[in-house]
Amino acid sequence: MNIEELTIKKVHEGLCAKKFSSHELIEAFFDEVETHDKDIGAFLSLHKESAYIVAKEVDAIFHERGTLHPLSGVPLGIKDNIVIEGEITTAASKILGSYRAVYDATVIKKLKEHKAIFLGKNNLDEFAMGSSTENSAYKITRNPHDKERVPGGSSGGGAAAVARGFAVAALGSDTGGSIRQPASFCGVVGLKPTYGAVSRSGLIAMASSLDQIGPITKTVDDAALLFDAIKGVDPLDATSTEGKYTSKSESFTIGLPREYFIDGLDKEVAKKIEEVIEKFKSLKINIKPVSLPHTRYALSVYYIIMPAEVSSNLARYDGIRYGTRVDGIKESISLSDLYVKNRSEGFGDEVTRRIILGTYVLSSGYYDAYYSKAQKVRALITQDFQNVFREVDVILAPVAPTPPFKIGEKTKDPLSMYLSDIFTIPANLAGLPALALPHTPWKPNSCGKIGLPVGFQLIGKRWHEEDLFALGRLYEEN
Ligand code: GLN
Repeated sequence: MNIEELTIKKVHEGLCAKKFSSHELIEAFFDEVETHDKDIGAFLSLHKESAYIVAKEVDAIFHERGTLHPLSGVPLGIKDNIVIEGEITTAASKILGSYRAVYDATVIKKLKEHKAIFLGKNNLDEFAMGSSTENSAYKITRNPHDKERVPGGSSGGGAAAVARGFAVAALGSDTGGSIRQPASFCGVVGLKPTYGAVSRSGLIAMASSLDQIGPITKTVDDAALLFDAIKGVDPLDATSTEGKYTSKSESFTIGLPREYFIDGLDKEVAKKIEEVIEKFKSLKINIKPVSLPHTRYALSVYYIIMPAEVSSNLARYDGIRYGTRVDGIKESISLSDLYVKNRSEGFGDEVTRRIILGTYVLSSGYYDAYYSKAQKVRALITQDFQNVFREVDVILAPVAPTPPFKIGEKTKDPLSMYLSDIFTIPANLAGLPALALPHTPWKPNSCGKIGLPVGFQLIGKRWHEEDLFALGRLYEEN
C-alpha cells in the first residue's frame, strides 16, 4: 500500500474494497511518521492508543454492516490548538505545556461521530501567531518540498503532514491566513470557511472575531467533504450560524483586484498566477478587473484588532488554572509576582509582543485613536467586497507575495514576517470564505520534485463555499 497517494476518497474506497483494514492503515501511517517525521517535524504528539481503539471499531462496523461513512477510518492530523479530550494540548506554548484537555472541541465531536481517526497533534506557531511555524516553543517544521525552507504558518505542521503523506488531511485554524498560506507553501488545498460556519468551541482562542477552523487536504473534493462534516450552528459558540448556503454552479465571473497585483509581488508568483488566470479564461470563465480600494489598510487594521483580542483572550493564562507553573517559585511570592513570572517565562517573544501591543491599543486614551478607528476601517474593507460582489461572483488573488522562504530568513524582522499575510488578511476581516489551491495540483511523491509550490486563492461571498469548490474542481481537473 502506498499511503502517500491516499485521499479521503481513496481511503474510503480502499476500506470498502477490503484492500486494507483500518488497523493496517493506521499502522502504516504511524510507521511512516515514526520513521520520517524527524526530518520534517510535523507532529508534536501521536495518539496511538486512541487511534488503534477507533480503528478496531471501524473494522468491526464494516464487518457488521458492509458499509462505512466516507470519513470512517480516515487518518487525520489536528492542529495543536484544537482540544481533544484526554490528550495533551499545548498550542505550541510552554505556558500550556502539560495541559490535558478535559473536553472535545465541537469539530472533534463531529468527526468522532463518523469515526475519523486522529493520528496526533500538528505543530504550529505559538498560539497560532506567526507565518512560518518557527514560533513554536517546541520545534520548527520543515517544508517537505525543500527542507531548508519554512512550511508557512501558523498551521505549518498540518500542511507539511498532508503534503508529505503523514496524514490524509488535517484541521487547521485561520485568523489571518494560517490555513491558506501554509497550504500554499506546501502545495496542498486549504479552506478558510465563512466566519460563523464552523464552531470555535474548543479552538484555543487567538482573535475571536477572526478565528475559523478549516480543512487542509490534497484535493478540493476532500476539503468539501471535511468542511461538510465540521460545519453547523453550535450552542457552545454564539457566533456560529446555520448559514444560508447557496451556489451559482455556472457562468462564473472572476474578479481580479488591482490592489493585489502590486510591485512587491514576487516575479515567479506573478507568473504562476498569470498562468492560473489564463487557464480559467480557456475554460470559458469571465475575468474582470475590479478594485478593493481599502486593501492597503488591511494589514494595519489587522495588527490593531488582532492584538487587542489576543491581549484579552490570553489574560487567562497565569500558570494557575491551566498548564505548567514555572519552576522555583517560592510559596511566599505575591500573586502579582506569580503572574509576572509565569507569564514572562511561559510566553514566547511574539506572543508577548502582541499582548503588549494589544493592551496598548485598548488602553484609555488610545482606544479611540487605534481600536475604534480600526473597527471603522474594517467596515470599509468589508464594504469594498460587498461592492465588488455585485459585479463578480468570486475574487482570484495570490495567497502570499513570495514562495516559501528560508528557515531563519524573517525571524529577526517581525514586519517582513507580517507582510507575508498581506493578501490573506482581508478575507478574515470581512468574514468571507477563501479557498487556497496549488498552482500545480498535489501528486504523490511530488515533494522535492516540482520546485517550490505556489498557491492562489478564490475568495467568495459569505456562505458561497460551493462556488469556490466548483471553480476549484474545474481548475484541478483541467
Ligand atoms: N500569520 C498571521 C499572524 O501571525 C495569521 C495567523 C493566523 O491566521 N492564525 O497573525
